[in-house]
Amino acid sequence: MRTFLIAGNWKMHQNVAETKAYFNEFTKLVSKAPEGVSILLCPVYTSLHAAADAASSVDGLHIGAQNLHFEDKGAFTGEITAAMIKETGADHVIIGHSERRQYYNETDETVNKKTKKAIEAGLTPVVCVGELLEERKEDRHFDVVRSQVVKGLEGISKNDALKTVIAYEPVWAIGTGETASPEQAQEIHAFIRKELAGLYDEATAAEIRILYGGSMNAKNADELLSQEDVDGGLIGGASLKPDSFSEIVHFAGKIYSS
Ligand code: PEP
Repeated sequence: MRTFLIAGNWKMHQNVAETKAYFNEFTKLVSKAPEGVSILLCPVYTSLHAAADAASSVDGLHIGAQNLHFEDKGAFTGEITAAMIKETGADHVIIGHSERRQYYNETDETVNKKTKKAIEAGLTPVVCVGELLEERKEDRHFDVVRSQVVKGLEGISKNDALKTVIAYEPVWAIGTGETASPEQAQEIHAFIRKELAGLYDEATAAEIRILYGGSMNAKNADELLSQEDVDGGLIGGASLKPDSFSEIVHFAGKIYSS
């Protein structure tokens, strides 16, 4: 049975002092991850060390970066390697977030290289896919998501695919307050799982976690997480407050044990 992953993407928020204060508060609300739930928080690079230190006191609480470079070293000003991320104590990394695709020229090809590098370094990649508003309006969302999944995982073995997490994030729902309905989320998550079964096999597809992201919050998380193929959330805004994020974590725990 798949377990939940409740992940927070802090984007370019929270300095070191704010990160420490957050964990101080959060660990009072969640002293250990509920059964069947892993928790992930992804701060900015400069807060990774502090976050990893604070997270080490909580069972099932993981830290991740928001990006990496696919090379091991070199003249890539402003970039960071997988090994450098690992060194901070982080064990996950978000790859191909729509903001990186939109503003930093991230492509399916770089997503694929970064995913391979993360796995090689022992980091769990959270690979983001999702369609733009016009693509959904033109009913092209299945094709777009299929292509992102297939290209993002190209050349990745079954064993390595089992180490990845997919995050379906419709771009029109990110930071907009507009959420996919639980039915829309379930429909496309089931579609992604079918594609994974085609790429690998049913058993592998059944094990890979598929997260939903896009304005998930303490009000809508219960319904979204109750969908059969929704195995967690990648949460931006609502992960910045320990109380709303911890509520979502507890919802997942209740759903798992019900
Ligand atoms: C995200 O950053 O991946 C995200 C889903 O943001 P929000 O929850 O704020 O829509």
